[in-house]
Amino acid sequence: MAAPEFRTPELKPYPEIPVVVEGTMAHSQPYVAPPEHQQPLGYPGELVEDWQRVAIDKMGELVAKYRSLQVFLDACVKCGACSDKCHYFLGTGDPKNMPVARQDLFRKVYRRYYTLSGKYLPWLVGAEDLTKEVLDDWYRYFHQCSECRRCSVYCPYGIDTAEITMAAREIMASIGLGQKYSNEIIAKVYKLGNNLGLPQPALADTLEGLEEDVEEETGVRVRYPLDEAGAEVLLVTPSADFFAEPQVDGLIGYGKVLHQAGISWTLSSHASEAANFGLFVGSYQNMRKVALRIREAALELGVKRIVFGECGHAWRVAYSFLNTLAGPFDFLDSRYPVPQHIVEVTHDLVKRGALTLDSSANDERRVTFHDSCNIARASRMGNIPGGQFVLPREVLSAVCNHVYDMRADTIGEATYCCGGGGGLLTDDLLELRVKGALPRMQALKEVVDRHDVTHLVAICAICKSQFAKVLPYYGFEMDQILSLHQLVGDAVVLGTKQ
Ligand code: SF4
Ligand code: SF4
Repeated sequence: MAAPEFRTPELKPYPEIPVVVEGTMAHSQPYVAPPEHQQPLGYPGELVEDWQRVAIDKMGELVAKYRSLQVFLDACVKCGACSDKCHYFLGTGDPKNMPVARQDLFRKVYRRYYTLSGKYLPWLVGAEDLTKEVLDDWYRYFHQCSECRRCSVYCPYGIDTAEITMAAREIMASIGLGQKYSNEIIAKVYKLGNNLGLPQPALADTLEGLEEDVEEETGVRVRYPLDEAGAEVLLVTPSADFFAEPQVDGLIGYGKVLHQAGISWTLSSHASEAANFGLFVGSYQNMRKVALRIREAALELGVKRIVFGECGHAWRVAYSFLNTLAGPFDFLDSRYPVPQHIVEVTHDLVKRGALTLDSSANDERRVTFHDSCNIARASRMGNIPGGQFVLPREVLSAVCNHVYDMRADTIGEATYCCGGGGGLLTDDLLELRVKGALPRMQALKEVVDRHDVTHLVAICAICKSQFAKVLPYYGFEMDQILSLHQLVGDAVVLGTKQ
């Protein structure tokens, strides 16, 4: 199905709150997962007959299991502080993309079945039955939330819309109404170890090709090893790093850094994916099953450390949940955090002077750093508060002489999602992705105008793919997005070991 025609929002001299247009994104929804993408995840193949009862039961189960969910549903006072904080609202003007309205799609059903007032006086408390119309709205608007958590930063009660979205998606998948894009990807990981469905021989081929390319360019044989037992580090990276642009240049950079540092490392064909889409569909079981592959690979290869490549939500799952999902990791070297981020590894090497860097190699580039939402608001790096903002910028400044931040209310904890996170990086949601990128594009335009910035730098595979797609809609070039480790790789002087 071709994406419907739409107009790219205009970049204004100053950001504006859009005029509210009821239902303007009511046509936007992703493809529904067919049975072959539902069943491997443990969900029914299609909408079950008694879907309403199953959904309400599932809601009760989730509310009982996750106390935070119940608190979020009960605590909202409708203050409106979150209403203009979502990039999808800012880009579309659809009032159901205001975080509070998105939450209310769930909350009204919760009230109807799980509160006394909602049971007996539904009209008084805005409680509603779970009808087919309500379910259709759920499917549309819970797939117009990238689970980025920006709204929660501005909520006086810390209400996290992302958690409500995850619960809604899990309920929908449980009644047979899953999303094709995310579920198909999870099923591929179960079958082949990665989102892209790349089998071991294809991975080995790609990595061999990278070794040849790097040697041709630098004269140095930098290795990109696969399934090498006894390596010190298992590098778990998004599969996009194996071939997509600009991700692959990041992988080249990791290899150069580890080579120069003299750290033996390997990738794994069993755990050839850092991404964990179980998070996006809100499923603990599926998140765990994906995460366990990393443990199995680490044990099988006998590594001492696990390092994650540049992937936003993967780092969120790794940083916040890996030990719970797949631990304990007491067989690893306890001198290193489990897991570690490649930025932490590089940052440590830079600070210790263990790499020779020629930052003039990036003199053609004037860059700005995009904080990826999952890293910014759901993880940390290093052992300092806000390390997830500091470490990447310090690495960037060490390898590039022209670094300029975007407006303060668009970076750091307040960063805007790229518009393609949370399982929405699919062409059936292209209009949403383009419109949701508006606030980031606006902030980028400002530093382009003020500082002649030429590139946006990110440490998330989804952000990179999303920006490569949407930059041209806003008058930029698709190759204006770069991996942080591409700049690192270009600046590292290879050769004599330190
Ligand atoms: S979590 Fe992000 S995408 Fe979802 S409603 Fe909040 S700001 Fe919007
Ligand atoms: S900011 Fe929090 S309390 Fe206020 S309307 Fe939004 S979710 Fe409700």
